[in-house]
This record gives sequence, structure tokens and C-alpha cells, in this order.
Amino acid sequence: LKLTKNTLEPVDYSFYQRMRPDDVTEEFLWSARLEPMLDYISSEDIPLIRDALTLAYDAHAGQSRKSGEPFITHPVEVTRILAELKMDTESLVAGLLHDTVEDCGEQVGLEEIGFHFGQGVMKIVEGETKFSKLPTHHPERAQENASGEVTIPAGAGAAGASGASGAAGATIPLNGPGTRTTNDEKAQDLQFLFLAMTEEVRIIVVKLADRLHNMRTMASMPQAKQRRIALETLQVFSPLARLLGLYTIKEELEELSFQYAMPQQYAITEKAVNRLWEPQRAAVEAAARELEEKIENDVYLTGLLQGLKIEISRKAVYSIWKKLQDSGRSIRDVSEIAQLRVILNPANASDERQLCYHTMGLIHSFWAPVPGSMKDYIATPKPNNYQSLHTAIIPTGLVVNGNGNGNGSSASSSSNGAQSPTTSRSYNQTLFPIEVQIKTDDMERL
Ligand code: MN
Repeated sequence: LKLTKNTLEPVDYSFYQRMRPDDVTEEFLWSARLEPMLDYISSEDIPLIRDALTLAYDAHAGQSRKSGEPFITHPVEVTRILAELKMDTESLVAGLLHDTVEDCGEQVGLEEIGFHFGQGVMKIVEGETKFSKLPTHHPERAQENASGEVTIPAGAGAAGASGASGAAGATIPLNGPGTRTTNDEKAQDLQFLFLAMTEEVRIIVVKLADRLHNMRTMASMPQAKQRRIALETLQVFSPLARLLGLYTIKEELEELSFQYAMPQQYAITEKAVNRLWEPQRAAVEAAARELEEKIENDVYLTGLLQGLKIEISRKAVYSIWKKLQDSGRSIRDVSEIAQLRVILNPANASDERQLCYHTMGLIHSFWAPVPGSMKDYIATPKPNNYQSLHTAIIPTGLVVNGNGNGNGSSASSSSNGAQSPTTSRSYNQTLFPIEVQIKTDDMERL
């Protein structure tokens, strides 16, 4: 049985800035950053990924990012994000090569990539290259001049076998620095995205990893540019991540975008959320431990479970802010920010549904459920196949010290269903709801 915590910690790349550029060698990037992530890749594919690193390393030699570190760190970290998503070899290779064709002009051609790494990789890299020729989609390379225009580097289209290279070398006017692009441009971008998605969905996944790394490392950019990129990420990229079911990416993109696009609202909301979370944290951890104990003492569950993981997290600042915006409520009305994720590992896969339903019954037998909060995404999965049981409970007996938790000892289930609706009306001010998700590890992986 394992208890893990899962709060939204920012990813820290500052070690790159502390390194001397000469120490960021190909060998370092391979053995310290990439190789440890590749344990799920078949060993015969490893040399291909290693070759892609060599090609990218040579192609980006001498280039550096705005933040100062060697440019090669960008494709390497993008590829790490793809490996966290357990993407296939072709996607990883494309992640390493995604900026080579465009940034390195004639040096690396798409045909060469196709010849060495296959048509699949070539198609993805071609997609990334087309993408960055769009007026709005390349934050770290496009040069913004004083008149607020973005110059698309000429020569970028040289290797393009595609028809979408009309924009190469052209200067596209924007509305001005720090403003949104026009709806027409946005519509064109979206049209391109959806076309790319039907053709090859991995183009979008690599693009999302690219955007995520750019957002994580945006601190050194001018404020107006940060804002523009962040707004675009909220409008285009996080909805795409959601559409593809990449919820962790969606959440992180939103969190970072919110921070850069609306720094004041972010600061206010974050402060309010932390003020709520600090006093709740200990109670949520105690609830997780109590739940663990209850499950361990449940005769039915222990017979059929191989393992159990309970994750503790707090809701993301952006999602709380968005909910308030949509409902017109104030931060004072928020109380439900804690989440427990109960992940069951059944000994026999055929029991997985019953185990989830039983666990929910067990939880409701000792903690009062919030009426109307239960959702059954196991019987009715979301369109992207997401499966889980959702409920929200009031962890009674933890905050109200000792009194009134007589049912706490009845660990062996099936005595649930006795919760009257009046429970919800009588909660004490010090009590707060916790959202609980119940699923198996197979459902989690799916
Ligand atoms: Mn890139």
C-alpha cells in the first residue's frame, strides 16, 4: 500500500543555467536526460533515438535559447515530455528533430530525415515545420520587430515539399505587440490543426510537448510576448490537449498560461487557494490514512486486491478560477479544493468494476457523501474512454474530534446507504468536502 502526494510542483530546469555550455555535451544529454526515460522502448529502437540526438546535436551546434542555454536542450526536453507520455519511437525521434529542418535551413532536409528515420518521422517533422510557419505559432524563434510585426525567417520553406509554404519570407502584420491575433488568423490556425490531427495525430502531440516546454521556460521573455503566447495557449493548445485526453498537459498549460496571461488574478486566486489548503492539508492526509486503513481491514477488498495507491492533490488554481468565472461566484464560496485519488490494483481484472463500486460504498458508509456529487464514469465512460467513480465526501469524525463518529468502527462495508439528506445541511463550519475518485490502475493508465 502506497500513499503518494501529487501537488502541482513546477518543473525546474535551472540546472541547465548553472552548467557551463560546454558541459551540455551530447553524452550528458543522452545518459542523464534521455536514456533513463526509455525503459519502455524496445532495445532495438534505442540506437535510432541515439542517432536522432546526434543529428539534432550537430544541427543545433552553436545555437542558444533566449534564456542562454544551448538550443539542443529544448528538443531534448521536449522528447522527455513525450517519453513521459510513453509515446512511440517515431514520435521521440521527431521530438528530437522537430526544429532541425526549420532552424538549420539547408543543412538538414526532410528527405534526409525520411531516408534515415522513415516516412513516419518525416511526416511528423514536416508537420512541426509547417506549423511554425503559421503567423502565430513559434514563440521562441520568430523575430518581433519594432512595428509589432513578426518576420518569418526566409529559407525555412526551402526544404518543404508541401504546399503550405506560401508564408516563407513574408512579413505578417499583427495587431500590435501583446494583443491577440485576429479571428481570421486564429480560424486558419485551427483549421490547420484539425487537418493535421486527422492526418497524423502525433503531429499535435509533439506540438503540445513543444509548447509545454516553451511555456515552462518562458520566464526570460519580454512581458508582452509572454502574455500573447499565454493567451494563445489558453485559446488553442490547452483545449486541444483536453480533446486528446492529455489532462496532465492540459492542466499544466493552463496553470502556466494563467500565470503569464493574468498575473494579478493568478496571484489573488493562488493566495486564496493556499489559505484554504494549508489548514485542510493535515485533515486530508489524515483522511487518506484512515481510508487506507479501512480498505486494509475490509475482508472483501483484501481478498481481491493486489495493491492500493492513494494520491492526495489540490485542485489547480486555474480550474478554480475558471469555475468561479463561469458561475459568477467569489473565492469565498470555494471550499472544495482537495482531491483523493484511490487507485485499486485488482488481483483479477474481471473484478475491477465490483471493486470500485464496493470501495465507494465503503467510503459512503463512514463519511457523508455530498448529495448530487456522485458520478459514475465506469458504467458511462466519458467520450475519450475515461473511467472512474467520482464522489465528494465530508470527512466527519476527523475535524469534529471524537464525538459522533460511532460508525467509524464498522469497517466491513455493506452497512452503507443510511446517509440521510439532512447530514449535508448540518455540517459544521469547520468541515469541508473532499472530492474522491475511485478507479483501477488499468482505468488510470487508459
Ligand atoms: Mn520547438
